[in-house]
Amino acid sequence: MPISPPRSWVEINLENLKKNLSYAAEKSGCEIMAVVKAGAYGHGLERIAEVMQQQGVAFLGVANIGEARRIREAGVDIPIYLLGATWEKEREEIVARNITPCISTLSEAESFNQLAETRGVKLSVHIAVDTGMGRGGFLPDQLAENIIRLRELESLLIEGISSHLSSSDEDEDFTYRQIASFEDSITQLGGAEKFKWRHLFNSGGIIGYKKGTCNLARPGLMVYGVSPFPEFQKNLHLVMSLKSRISIVRTVPAGHSLSYGHSFITTEPTRIATVGIGYGDGYPRQLSGKGAHVCIDGKKFPILGRVTMDQLIIGLPIDSNVSPGAEVELFGEHISVDEVATLADTIPWEIFTGITTRVERVYL
Ligand SMILES: *Cc1c(COP(=O)(O)O)cnc(C)c1O
Repeated sequence: MPISPPRSWVEINLENLKKNLSYAAEKSGCEIMAVVKAGAYGHGLERIAEVMQQQGVAFLGVANIGEARRIREAGVDIPIYLLGATWEKEREEIVARNITPCISTLSEAESFNQLAETRGVKLSVHIAVDTGMGRGGFLPDQLAENIIRLRELESLLIEGISSHLSSSDEDEDFTYRQIASFEDSITQLGGAEKFKWRHLFNSGGIIGYKKGTCNLARPGLMVYGVSPFPEFQKNLHLVMSLKSRISIVRTVPAGHSLSYGHSFITTEPTRIATVGIGYGDGYPRQLSGKGAHVCIDGKKFPILGRVTMDQLIIGLPIDSNVSPGAEVELFGEHISVDEVATLADTIPWEIFTGITTRVERVYL
């Protein structure tokens, strides 16, 4: 059976990903935990995990055991860390696969200890400190009372300590308070030498702040080529471009309505093209009527009317020679993902993770 080229695809530049990874290591002065949760931010979990392993990162960071399982099944065997708290029924597999959890409560620690003991293994864990993110972790003033019991759990090895910044790209004072609280916590627990791994910084933290006693950094977004601070964007390299193709080109008369809700009505005879991508591919419907553009051959053309599930309509000059099959960039070299995110009232993280499985991942 003949196989057609994909309607919509993302091109993923792995060389640029590697450059961004090196930049994160250099800028942080730390070993790297490459954050590959949510399908490596839409870039493809297994493939990116393999590249990260080849690049020699210390850890992969994932959101849940399902992601860890897929990475292991792809044959990647470097340490994997779970970025959030776990639920009871997930823990047996976590222990069986030797995945490293962070510990938020004494009962979580006791349950992991029990499971590790039953299997006759020692499980490495990291203590999570809630310095202001609020998703999990021990409160700083509860650490002293809990650490004694935690250190008694013989089937756990307390290998690290971590916390997470909530506002590293939004609030400098708050971020400095979180950093100070994390450093205090480490001191309270006996100092940096008690923990093989000390980690706090996401992309915003790496780019904007000094590492203190941290020796591991957890970059996500910046590795995928986007800086949370626009002024540092020049240090990073484009990784993902979202592309599609024109299916048809037509001229419609003045007064003709375009797309659902007929929110756009032509005021003159208009050359239009239909592009084979929509919100079913992860191109946000919120971009409807916001003045968003696409790019063909280096030139920008406006989206007219609403973005539908599988298709959208763009306006062309009346004498345009753009024809069916032409490649369309939704974001990439000419239109930044940041620009798309801002117009859609969201953030680049959500645009990346929203790209659906229907969109083929093409690695360059
Ligand atoms: C997602 C996540 C990161 C990575 O954040 P970026 O802003 O994408 O760099 C780091 N640490 C934790 C705990 C996370 O959940």
